[in-house]
Amino acid sequence: MTGQRRVIAHVLSEADDHPDVEELYRRASALDNRISVATVYRTVRLLEERGILERRDFGGGRARYEASENGCHYHLIDIDSGRVIEFENEELVSLLSQIAKKLGFDLVSHRAELFGRAEKGATADEGKNTSSEGKKSV
Ligand SMILES: [Zn+2]
Repeated sequence: MTGQRRVIAHVLSEADDHPDVEELYRRASALDNRISVATVYRTVRLLEERGILERRDFGGGRARYEASENGCHYHLIDIDSGRVIEFENEELVSLLSQIAKKLGFDLVSHRAELFGRAEKGATADEGKNTSSEGKKSV
């Protein structure tokens, strides 16, 4: 991996959100101003092919990225604010495995993105019921 690619990989592994290419470019070029947006695009594609990062689609027409080392989790996207809430749910994994089985397949990978609107009167419970990585267990 070249130095520039390493900078981009580092930025991704440090991110605790889901940056898009533009945001990755902003952060990477702050560390190394020789990095171009084209390099970010190429590197992101390469890292995705190698399974080092995951591409996410939260709507809005731009791909978002996070390091694969963030582990298996799901996302709920607030359609009003765009806020992304990460959560884990073991029942969902076993349910999806059962569905794949019924269709004659072993589940290899899966993804789930939920799009929702906060219930009226619901208060944000930031920091409550979250795992050490900040993901909610539901
Ligand atoms: Zn995530």
